Amino acid sequence: MSLTLQVLLEEGTEVLSKAGVTEASLDAKYLLFEAFETDMTHFLLDRNQRLSEEDNASRIRNYRAMIETRSQRIPLQQITGSCEFMGLEFFVNEHVLIPRQDTETLVELVLKEYKGRKPAVLDMCTGSGCIAVSLAVLGGFDRVTAVDVSKEALKAAQKNAENLLGHGSITFAESDLFASLEEQKKFDVIVSNPPYIPTKIIEGLQPEVRDFEPMLALDGKEDGLYFYRRLADESRRYIQTGGAVYFEIGYDQAEAVSGLLRAAGFAGIRIIKDAAGLDRVVCAIYQ
Ligand code: GLN
Repeated sequence: MSLTLQVLLEEGTEVLSKAGVTEASLDAKYLLFEAFETDMTHFLLDRNQRLSEEDNASRIRNYRAMIETRSQRIPLQQITGSCEFMGLEFFVNEHVLIPRQDTETLVELVLKEYKGRKPAVLDMCTGSGCIAVSLAVLGGFDRVTAVDVSKEALKAAQKNAENLLGHGSITFAESDLFASLEEQKKFDVIVSNPPYIPTKIIEGLQPEVRDFEPMLALDGKEDGLYFYRRLADESRRYIQTGGAVYFEIGYDQAEAVSGLLRAAGFAGIRIIKDAAGLDRVVCAIYQ
């Protein structure tokens, strides 16, 4: 049988299925596209054409190497180094949480509620910078500050800001939550997708997440609420009166996080669902 893109796809799919990868065929396809610098349209046209093994030696080798890496359950996006979020292409690596589609709910909500305005925004726990950069690119927000405790995450976020916005458009700060921020600075909006998975739940997650995504970005400590307690309490010193907070939450945390915000003096608490119909964002006004 002569070698074709279709044959390579089937070969890769089989390796990934055997390794327990959930979307084996889809992942093999993405890696094939990456190695052969092609896309769905060209694949569909060319997939049964004979491939010269000689002319394509390095592409074939690269494809097989990426399949082998993926079979160790290293996330696809860490292999390709990119992830699409809000229609934008973000650089990702092992130091940042891979942007989730769930998080688009938060970004879309803030864009909708601040359309035509340019609030001063703080993105606490920015990670890849996907929230901060999307707000700046898509909403034209020009006063965005993005904070993370991880130097490596900040490097990735800065790279995304430079790629998608140009140099200097977002202010970055390395800080353990608010610890290194000036108290005089008050924001109109504070957004955050903090680590919110209870420690015990982490061991039951897919190996891609459990073994290869940064624990620092996932672990919400004992009950998963550690960061919301601190955010609800400490946000008050960095927010304008009448300003709003938007926090991404786990599907079962709406009630607990609303309670923490209410106890901290926030009002107008709303819970917003994601595309799958699960509670995903809690927002509130500081009065
Ligand atoms: N939504 C992410 C997940 O399910 C967790 C994100 C977070 O802890 N902030 O893996």
